[in-house]
Amino acid sequence: MCYTFGDRVYRTCVYTSTTIDAAVFVDNPFAVSFRDCTNRTGIVTCTAVDAFVRNRISQDVHLPLVYLPDIIYWVENIIGKKKSLEERFCRQPFFIPLLCRKGFPEMHHVVLEKTSEYSRVELRNAMTRLLAPLGGMAAFVHPGERVLLKPNLLSAKTPDAAVTTHPEVVRAVIELVREAGAIPFVGDSPGIGKLQRVAEKCGILQVLVETGTELVEFTESVQVDGPGLFKRFELAKPYFEADRVINLPKLKTHGMMTMTCAVKNLFGAVVGAGKIAWHLRAGEDRELFAQMLLEIYQLRKPDLNIVDAITAMEGDGPSGGDPRQVGLLIAGVNAVAVDVVAAEVLGISKKYLYLERVAEKLALPGVERSSIHVSGYLVGEARIQDFKLPPLSDVQFGLPRFLSRHIRHYFTAYPFPIPKKCKLCGICRDACPPGAIEFRDDSLVIDYQRCIRCFCCRELCPEHALGVREGRLLRIIKKYI
Ligand code: SF4
Ligand code: SF4
Repeated sequence: MCYTFGDRVYRTCVYTSTTIDAAVFVDNPFAVSFRDCTNRTGIVTCTAVDAFVRNRISQDVHLPLVYLPDIIYWVENIIGKKKSLEERFCRQPFFIPLLCRKGFPEMHHVVLEKTSEYSRVELRNAMTRLLAPLGGMAAFVHPGERVLLKPNLLSAKTPDAAVTTHPEVVRAVIELVREAGAIPFVGDSPGIGKLQRVAEKCGILQVLVETGTELVEFTESVQVDGPGLFKRFELAKPYFEADRVINLPKLKTHGMMTMTCAVKNLFGAVVGAGKIAWHLRAGEDRELFAQMLLEIYQLRKPDLNIVDAITAMEGDGPSGGDPRQVGLLIAGVNAVAVDVVAAEVLGISKKYLYLERVAEKLALPGVERSSIHVSGYLVGEARIQDFKLPPLSDVQFGLPRFLSRHIRHYFTAYPFPIPKKCKLCGICRDACPPGAIEFRDDSLVIDYQRCIRCFCCRELCPEHALGVREGRLLRIIKKYI
């Protein structure tokens, strides 16, 4: 068995547990290769193993945490048969202190894979490399299972607009699911328009036709009890009833939530107009909206998340921003952890990440950075400089609610129509949750007393005919803080 030390070689080793960063040599069980926080590979000898058991290696590198499954794997290889944990570790007494000290901490593995383009062959290879550390597609789907692929199909835009998940990403996942013997199908409920039309424009329909894959529009819903604050949800039946769900978000900025990635993409499981109702219910409270998204996520966690971050969207996302080359695929089982890593790659501060902040309050698994194990590439290696955020629009930066309600126009960002671009198509008016938009004398008028600053109008306007302006006082405050 051959091991070379270097970044890519891990992928070819026989090791296939959920963490790949520590691999034990079968021919020399005391020589362990691992990747430390600097993503450099080294050799830990028997002495070093002994040293970390004695806690001499910094806890910051999380080595003891990722090491445990590797030990199990090694023991299984050496012994050649399954044993109980006690039996396993009794044979290697120097691991017992490690077990006693750490127990079985829950680690969330997120893999970063670099790939620069959407070429079919390149993407297919990148996807295989991406999933290898997680056990490959076969670890997530099984023969005969119906597997829902849930891309971001926000609106009818061409793939180069970076609004929707790229069709070649969908194709690569379809092929891998099929190879694992399962039956893939694609489903969503777009923000505007019919699914068929959106899928056609964004290139996914062609992929489905070529691969003989079914497209399912989320129209029928099932009622499910909420896991927390919200008592009841109506979620798309195909989403809830699929044997497996693979979430395929597009990494983008988002006017309301700052970033949309794995958790936010699941809002598509709310059927059609139900989305408007949820916006209305959460109102201006972004944390409440974030909590609703996290509750949807908890009701049916995807089995796997694969983020299309090859070309992401920066600036005025999620539909009017600019494509930005990030060159990454990101995968992980835990959608919260995937989002945390994606935000880190983009360099977005937690103060703007409502989902992350609320997930922290709810103590959801995967939100603690120390519980996330990143492999493939280090976040530092993949980080994007100067990623442009959406025109900021925080309505509740430390403002007491009663205050924000009364003087919010001065403190908050708000949408405004750009008459030259507006075609008076009515899409924003129909989608506006509180009905704050109307047409008067052939122009669009927004009632700012009713407007809840959800920015659905901007998200859905096909003409980018709505700008965003910060409240005057907000502008002044931001100058000085
Ligand atoms: S702002 Fe956009 S969505 Fe609204 S009416 Fe004008 S063109 Fe249509
Ligand atoms: S006007 Fe736009 S931002 Fe305001 S509530 Fe309506 S959709 Fe939301």
